[in-house]
Amino acid sequence: MSMQEAERCGIRIGRRRFLTVGVAAAGAAILPRSAAKATEETEMKPPVGFMTDPIYLRHITGDGHPEHPQRLTAIIDQLKKSGVWKSLQQIPARDATMDQIRAAQDEKYIQTVIRDVKEGRTGLSTGDTVICSDSLAAAIRAVGGVLAAGDAVMSGKVASAFCAVRPPGHHATRSRGMGFCIFNNVAALARYLQKQHKLSRVLIVDWDVHHGNGTQDIFYEDGSVMYFSTHQHPMYPGTGLPEEIGSGKGKGCIINCPLARGSGDREILAAFDEQLLPAAKKFKPEFVIISAGFDARQQDSLGGLNVTDSGFAQLTERVVAIANEFSGGKLVSVLEGGYNLAGLALAAESHVRAMS
Ligand SMILES: [Zn+2]
Repeated sequence: MSMQEAERCGIRIGRRRFLTVGVAAAGAAILPRSAAKATEETEMKPPVGFMTDPIYLRHITGDGHPEHPQRLTAIIDQLKKSGVWKSLQQIPARDATMDQIRAAQDEKYIQTVIRDVKEGRTGLSTGDTVICSDSLAAAIRAVGGVLAAGDAVMSGKVASAFCAVRPPGHHATRSRGMGFCIFNNVAALARYLQKQHKLSRVLIVDWDVHHGNGTQDIFYEDGSVMYFSTHQHPMYPGTGLPEEIGSGKGKGCIINCPLARGSGDREILAAFDEQLLPAAKKFKPEFVIISAGFDARQQDSLGGLNVTDSGFAQLTERVVAIANEFSGGKLVSVLEGGYNLAGLALAAESHVRAMS
């Protein structure tokens, strides 16, 4: 990214004194914190938040569909079994308003979703998203729950938060639901943070095995939201090449790191260290959002990458360090994919542990 492109992205260079820990020089590894500092932070730090809602289980996709309600119950059961659950602060979900959804989706598309559900269709007329009679209600509360998690972080009630939501969102463009997604939850949160909490720069980090074409589409010409994605390529939906860098004010604020099938911890961590860290250092996000897709995990039923549970912990540590460095630790992670139930549950546990 050139200085000119950086300025178009709202990047301020040389106006902030760096903290002594966290993100080191561009491309370098993150320095370990001293034990004393870590202890001090642990004692003072608010808990990690967890947001989910029973209505997410009523988005029924049918037998044999990989994106099914048991995905959420598997995560919750694992967090309870492992003992992590009791350290989490529950965040109640709420319904998003239509205005909050309109921040990421076209009015015409929202009306299409309302009509498709009302007519009892089994799939969105825009593409490959299965729906049922409760799907609209679930999608509205998925957006609203994610916004509630954003509020909880902004208020300081929780240090950061994980949102176990369905339907997922990162394939939803402004005008089209696709790839199991109805409304783009992370895009709505980025816009909400800017409008409601007056933030200028938001970073979205997407490690789902699929490229988040919808999120990229929504912010392609924006410049105030940086979108970074690692994903398997070639793969659905086919977008996410390195030359897709944004345009206009958004030029340089879209960063795509396609990975070959079979890539694992080494390759994905290298992308984070060599591409995300220097970009984040220039962008200086005021809030960080993760599109947390655990279908990049080894043995996923749809993905072909080999990220381990330890790898997800290390990715989380990288993003937490960026949030600590630039955003006062403000971070919300939102579930996207992940289709091997046992693997999804273990990877999510590893991720949530590494957030605290
Ligand atoms: Zn995915």
